[in-house]
Amino acid sequence: MLLKIDKRLRTARLHREDCKRIPSPVGSVHKPIGKLGRDGGWFSVTSEAEASAVARTNFPQAKFDRCQFCQTTGKVAGSAAVVTQ
Ligand SMILES: [Zn+2]
Repeated sequence: MLLKIDKRLRTARLHREDCKRIPSPVGSVHKPIGKLGRDGGWFSVTSEAEASAVARTNFPQAKFDRCQFCQTTGKVAGSAAVVTQ
C-alpha cells in the first residue's frame, strides 16, 4: 500500500498500489518517495496500522483516511468496515 501525505490539504490518504489515482511515476520533486518534501510525500507501507503510524510521525496534523477509489471495492454502502486484501 502507498500512503500519500499532502501538506496543503492536510491529508494522509492510504492507497492500494494498483490505484488509478496514483500518479505515474509516483513521487515528484515536491512530493518525494519515502520522505516529506515541500508539498508532502509518498510512503510505502504494509498495513493500515503502519500507514497511520507513518502519518502521525511525519505529519501529525494530517487527517487520515482511505482512498475512496481503491479502498472501497466490495464495501457495503454505508458500512465503515475496512476492506482487507
Ligand atoms: Zn487510491
